[in-house]
Amino acid sequence: NLSERLKIVASFVEKNKTLADIGSDHAYLPCYLVHTGIIKKGIAGEVVKGPFESAQKQVRSEGLEQQIDVRFGNGLEVIKESDHVQTITIAGMGGPLIASILEAGKDKLDAVETLILQPNIHAKAIREWAIKENWKITNETILEEHDKIYEIVVLQKGNMELTDQELLVGPYLMKEKSTVYHKKWSNELREWQRIMDQLDKTALSQEVQNKKEELERKIALVEES
Ligand code: SAM
Repeated sequence: NLSERLKIVASFVEKNKTLADIGSDHAYLPCYLVHTGIIKKGIAGEVVKGPFESAQKQVRSEGLEQQIDVRFGNGLEVIKESDHVQTITIAGMGGPLIASILEAGKDKLDAVETLILQPNIHAKAIREWAIKENWKITNETILEEHDKIYEIVVLQKGNMELTDQELLVGPYLMKEKSTVYHKKWSNELREWQRIMDQLDKTALSQEVQNKKEELERKIALVEES
């Protein structure tokens, strides 16, 4: 049974697009998308042998070998031009890792229309990469499952400008201000405040001063959002 988190990722996939799911692990997401008739074919990419074999096994056991091609390789290198991939999903990793996968494979993105990204932490790295590479956020959501909070960021080609605040908390999420959003940022604020209190007890070096100023800036951004 697919997690709520991956079901919400799936809800952003447009019908009948060719999809690549990078870091697919068991390939649960592409299998679900084919079974529900949202996509007809897809690629599941994995760079680690264990998860790659799990993906192969899952696809075989669901009888989806004709629809889902499980490929071994690093990031977007599993995608070929002849695949005509239109949608890429990358879920369940840190934002900086997702951004580095996109950066390393950006020559594979020319014909890609939509990136559906689900960072576990530091979504900001993805928003920064998007601005630099001319992608714009077309949707965002935040959810909680098993006491963990996840963000989903959807990108399509285009330009956007974001304030420092929007980069950190997400322009759509900031407008929506859901209960989960409030929970996430009050948790973060509490943690930053705890670090500030610790720093207050240590000798005031330049490094500590810089860290405090960085935290103060982030605290102000979140408190004003
Ligand atoms: N996408 C699934 C999900 O959201 O449930 C699996 C998430 S799992 C925590 C992250 C997976 O990404 C691991 O199986 C790992 O092997 C894979 N991975 C990490 N870096 C990768 C890369 N550069 N290219 C392909 N797969 C990668």
